[in-house]
Amino acid sequence: MLTLTIKTPVITYTQPLGLFIDGQWVEGVRGKTFDTINPTTEQPIVAVHEAGPEDVEIAVRAARKAFTGIWSRTSPTDRGKLLVKLAELFEEHSDVLAAIESLDNGKALSLSKVDVKIAAETLRYYGGWADKINGKTIDTDHEHFTYTRHEPIGVCGQIIPWNFPLVSLTMKIGPALACGNTVVLKTAEQTPLSGLYAATLMQKAGIPAGVINVLSGFGLTAGAAIAAHTDIDKISFTGSTAVGRSILQAAAASNIKKLTLELGGKSANIVFNDADVEEAVTWAHLGIFWNHGQVCCAGSRIYVQSRIYDDFIKTFKARASAVVIGDPFDQDTFQGPQISKVQYDRIMDYIQSGIEDGAVVEVGGKRHGTKGYFIQPTIFSNVSRDMSIMREEIFGPVCVICKFETEQEAIELANDSNYGLAAAIHTTDINTSIRVSNKLKAGTVWVNTYNSLSYQVPFGGFKESGMGREMGEYALSDYTQVKSVRIRLKSNL
Ligand code: NAD
Repeated sequence: MLTLTIKTPVITYTQPLGLFIDGQWVEGVRGKTFDTINPTTEQPIVAVHEAGPEDVEIAVRAARKAFTGIWSRTSPTDRGKLLVKLAELFEEHSDVLAAIESLDNGKALSLSKVDVKIAAETLRYYGGWADKINGKTIDTDHEHFTYTRHEPIGVCGQIIPWNFPLVSLTMKIGPALACGNTVVLKTAEQTPLSGLYAATLMQKAGIPAGVINVLSGFGLTAGAAIAAHTDIDKISFTGSTAVGRSILQAAAASNIKKLTLELGGKSANIVFNDADVEEAVTWAHLGIFWNHGQVCCAGSRIYVQSRIYDDFIKTFKARASAVVIGDPFDQDTFQGPQISKVQYDRIMDYIQSGIEDGAVVEVGGKRHGTKGYFIQPTIFSNVSRDMSIMREEIFGPVCVICKFETEQEAIELANDSNYGLAAAIHTTDINTSIRVSNKLKAGTVWVNTYNSLSYQVPFGGFKESGMGREMGEYALSDYTQVKSVRIRLKSNL
């Protein structure tokens, strides 16, 4: 079966189930399928076809053929038009895409709608870049004419996670296609459905066969086959630091693929005495509890200066206690379930370890309800630097809050992490904001806001949070390689 009619609480639609390879919908070579689970009900939604290494092989061949064939003959302007067309189709189908995301991922429908909007805008943004990717001429001396070309890298393997399935997909295919690359993309095994539906829109948009291939499958089989493949020229991966390391190793052991790695985080959110407490609480709240804490740059370590600490924690606790948790399709829901039983158990284990280590649960700490992977928003205080809830990425609605005295101490605490994805500062003093943001070892620093992401602004990690940048113009340099051409000129003297 390659399609199935699925009824969500808001829309009934046709769900593709196959692998999307070379512009065709096919079953996997091994004929295997796997269930995707609704995290709200813990019940299977549907079984999708599973890609194994053989399917990766076929998809890579299709992507190579398209790269050297039709895609190399498609002008930059036409590549841009195709991305813009795909953006328009995302918008036309936004109700279905948002419903699929809430069904498969569990995020509140209001959040899914924002995701779809961002996904469409990202495609349009990169469509706009396609005909503006230029090299330079370099004036070296009278005997040479020298120029650079920004050439596509080739076949790109793209491995995406489950926390923002559609946004991740567009963040990856947008710059890849704009620069003239072709793609073999593997969705996360927890959330295969929206990527498959998006592939029907790629067909509708007229993107040539083989330019994007979308595979559902598991990390250790399909993902590892992509990482090790010798005819894949670049990998862009978003997910855990542990898997990022294994991809680095596979790239080194195979063909030294180019890599963009967007990995984990344990980001610091610093609130100074002069901050507006109400506003800082709003951003701290969204910083950790947005998308159920399943955000790589979540503000999971909150540092508050001593004079306002008591006021801040009182307001912050009240806000966390008022969170509406429930069915993602209910209008009032802010927080749906965690993505899976594995993640639910992992987060509950962290909560337990925090309690055993002597941290104090200020709010939450328990399961919500009896069905679905729901966890109460949880705030820990009395946390020391060496506790695992302080050092490790929990990837759930769990944060730690600590008091500090001086600016120097705040900087030192914030930088005391192997990660360096993001950080934030809340202050009304422009001097503090610039001085401190210069000192923070993080790829993004927010001032008086949090999780303020934009497809126009580069995003990526310092330290173990990754390498390379996604989004904005900077992403283009990670999807092109520079060729220098030097022409010796004949003298006419
Ligand atoms: P993961 O890193 O295992 O999975 C992310 C993607 O990588 C999925 O598509 C998966 O199939 C694939 N993958 C897994 N193993 C692979 C391998 N050996 N080779 C190639 N691809 C592989 O993440 P997870 O298990 O879903 O979640 C575990 C933790 O990872 C989370 O708790 C969180 O800390 C972190 N995470 C981070 C992000 C992020 O946005 N940075 C996203 C998801 C998960």
